[in-house]
Formats: sequence, structure tokens, C-alpha cells
Amino acid sequence: MKTFRARLLRFLVFAGTASLTLHSQSNESKPDLTLHGTVTRADFMHYRELPFTVPAGVTRLSAELSYTDKDKRTSIDLGLLDNERFRGWSGGNKSFFTLSDTDATPSYLPGSIRPGTWKILLGIPSIRPGITSHYEVKIWFGHATDATAVSTFSREPLRAGPAWYRGDLHMHDAHSDGSCTSQSGKKIPCPLYRTVEAAAARGLDFIAITDHNTTAHFDDLRELQPAFDQLLLIPGREITTFLGHANVFGTTAPIDFRLTDTVPNFNALLDQVQQLHGLLSINHPAQPSGESCMGCGWTAPNTDWSRIRVLEAVNGGITSGPLAGIPFWQTKLNAGFRIVGIAGSDNHNSSASPEHATSIGYPTTVVYAENLSERAILDGIRAGHVFIDIQGTKRRGMEWSATADVEHVATAAQMGDLLGATTGHQVRFTLKLHHVKGASPVILCDGKAVDWLPTKPAEDEEDERGGTWQSDGEPHWVRVDVRGPDGSLWLMGNPIYFNPR
Ligand SMILES: [Zn+2]
Ligand SMILES: [Zn+2]
Repeated sequence: MKTFRARLLRFLVFAGTASLTLHSQSNESKPDLTLHGTVTRADFMHYRELPFTVPAGVTRLSAELSYTDKDKRTSIDLGLLDNERFRGWSGGNKSFFTLSDTDATPSYLPGSIRPGTWKILLGIPSIRPGITSHYEVKIWFGHATDATAVSTFSREPLRAGPAWYRGDLHMHDAHSDGSCTSQSGKKIPCPLYRTVEAAAARGLDFIAITDHNTTAHFDDLRELQPAFDQLLLIPGREITTFLGHANVFGTTAPIDFRLTDTVPNFNALLDQVQQLHGLLSINHPAQPSGESCMGCGWTAPNTDWSRIRVLEAVNGGITSGPLAGIPFWQTKLNAGFRIVGIAGSDNHNSSASPEHATSIGYPTTVVYAENLSERAILDGIRAGHVFIDIQGTKRRGMEWSATADVEHVATAAQMGDLLGATTGHQVRFTLKLHHVKGASPVILCDGKAVDWLPTKPAEDEEDERGGTWQSDGEPHWVRVDVRGPDGSLWLMGNPIYFNPR
């Protein structure tokens, strides 16, 4: 058992570190340009411009200033001029800034990064006679097609270490149709900070705010992330078309959503998302589409399901019921597509008052990730290391794993993974349940309940059970639902897949 655990852990850690290419915004990466120089007492109470060339195609510019002799009271202020206008001044209050079309570090203005000569602006409010201080400005040029950064809004993971992280991947605020109440009780477009506060109050680890077809909310998120250092803010938007809705996570670049007009078909939209390293999830696909909500259901013709990695199987806000997407999802699994089932509250109300309670975190998507960073959470989702806590509790959990001897080596898989098991091979399953006392697991193979594991109710807060299955060598998907004593769905697991098609 110990060996299996060690192997599983190694496997999980490996799975979580799959993509390590660094984005130029990250302080881990080599700068594209470094400007050096010195200042002396002759520069006292003067400004200095450091010109540099911004090449074409840059969509994000980041810079960091460092200098010597702070202990001898040298101080150097920082600002920026682009090739047309003043772009910001952070004085001595920030040594790093980043800016793009959509968002900028507070003190700086978001907007186009036009190629040409830009200038770092230094100010010298303090330097003593006889001191020569050295400064260095590192500059990074980012491109929309760069690999995903550790996080768009934070330079470092918010929390280290592999764990199950809880979040909500679908919600709206004033940048689309999210509302809440004003001081006098009027219904108003809800400022984004209230949504973030509501998510933090729910104790979530991450959220994606997914306003409809806009990137306007990213500047607010950039400002809020440092204050919410326990709640990862992932860039998201809801691509909202007449033929279906889909969330895109992990890119701030514009995406043309005008399906039926400028974007010829859904595959062309997928091409855009792929180029930007975004992760696309098809939303509430089983919702009816019609006059009251054109495009709420999924009707895009010729959708190439082999290119769809993620689907919102559970949506807290739809009229057809939160679980209506599960049969739709399982039909795709039965057709042989490996698609990760996730959830979103689709919250449109961030009122703080108990009588208008927000739905943020109901349901919760729980992701096994290498750490609490955008890249790790999105990698965990891509890998399918995901279960859904339907009722959005803070503690309920499940771990579903399998081992099989593949060419005399015990190979482990968890939710989302593919395991080879030829005919006659014995597969060993382990199910661990956390804080679901009284609830019972249902094991589903290709959508049908099977008795490969005991299904009696969990008698304790921590429950572990095992079972075996003799493989028939065919492709299958096997996943676990956990149902409460009244039969209601508490947890919905993603499948382990057997044998490639
Ligand atoms: Zn929608
Ligand atoms: Zn929505």
C-alpha cells in the first residue's frame, strides 16, 4: 500500500508539472532587455529617460527596477512613457509593473503596446554626495501566443504544494449582467470587487470571473489580486454566441466571438483559443436555446468533439436544473471522447445581504493541482484531476484511483488518467471518501452502475474501500458518484479511462 501511495504521489507530482515554459512576465524568466547605468549627486532632484525599442507583436510589457545603496539613502523613482503618451508613474511605491491591452499594475495605464521608442522614466529624489549608485531595469516583452504564465495576476503561486484546491469557474459582475444592491437598495451592475469578496467569504481557493465576450474586467482583477492573496483570480470570459456558450480560461488576449459572421465556424473559434493557450469549456450544453435565451444550449453545427477538453457538466444557474448537463456529458464519454466534467455557479448576484445570498461556490469544482497558481489549476483541469462538490461544502472529498500491472510494472491512475489493462488483467480500485458520513458511492462504468466496490454508506468521516475488476481489454470509462442518504448527488467524480480507442 505504501509503495502504491508513493508511486501514485510521484505520478501525481509528475502529472502536475507537465508544462514548464515560462511567460516573459514571470520573474523566473530571462529579461528581453536590461538597461544599466549609474546616478550620482549630479542627478539629485532630476529625471532621467532611458529609451528602448519595443518590437512589433508585443502585447505585454513588464519591467522591474533595482538599484544599489538603499542603505545609504539613495532612492530612485519609476515611471513609463510610450511612443505617444505618459503611461504611468509608481514613484518609489513599486519596483515592478506590467501592462497590456486589457490590464495594468495600478499606477499604470492599460492599452495598446505600439512598436517604437518607449522610455523608462527615472526620478532621483535622494542621493548623497560622493555616492555612485548602480541601477538596473529588466524589461520583458510578452506575446499573446506565449505559454501560460505561472499566473496572469500574481507572479508567484499563492500557495505551494500539491493539494485539492476548491473553486468556482463561472460568474458575472458589472462587466456583464451581474447585479447586486446599491446603498439605497436599488438593483445595480455589481462592482467586481463584491464578487471577489463574496468568493473569499465562501473560503474558495480560486475563481474565474467570466463576463460575456469582454476582457474589460481584467484590469480590476489585476488590482485586486494582491489584496486577495488566498484566492487565485484566473482570467476568464464567457464566449457567448448564438450557437452556444463556452468559457475560456487562461488568456487575456481578445477573441473574436462573432460566430455566424466574422468567425466562419466553431472550429475557427477553437483555433483562436488554441493559439492563445486558452482552455475552453462548453457551458450548460443541455439548456434549451430559443427566444428567451438564444445560444444558451449547444447547437453549433459540426462541433469537433475530439478538440473539446472540458465541459460544464454542472451549472448552478440554469432553468433545466444544475445536473442537466451530466447526461449530455456522459453521452460524449460513451461516444469515446475524453472530456473533463467541471462545474460553475453561473452566479449573477453578489449581494452581501442574507436575503439575496450569492450562489458563488454552489457548486464547487475541486482540482488536484501542483500548487495554487493559474497554470497548475488549469493543468489539473486539463488532466481531469477533478471532482465536483455539488452542494459546495468546504470539506467533502473523494480520491478515486486504480492500479494495473502493465508489463509487470504496477501503473497507477487517478481521475482523468488513461490506464492500459489488456484482457484478463486484474485492476485494483481504491476509493477514499472524506467527510461524507452517511453517503454511498455509486460506481459507473460507461454510465451503468457496477458492483466492483462495496456501496454501503460511509460510517465514518474518513472512509477507504477497495475492489477489483477483471479487464475485458475494451475501452471503458469508470467514475464515481457519491449520493447522500436521500439519494441527492453530493460528489461527482471524473472518470479513469481504460484502454485507448
Ligand atoms: Zn451562459
Ligand atoms: Zn454565464
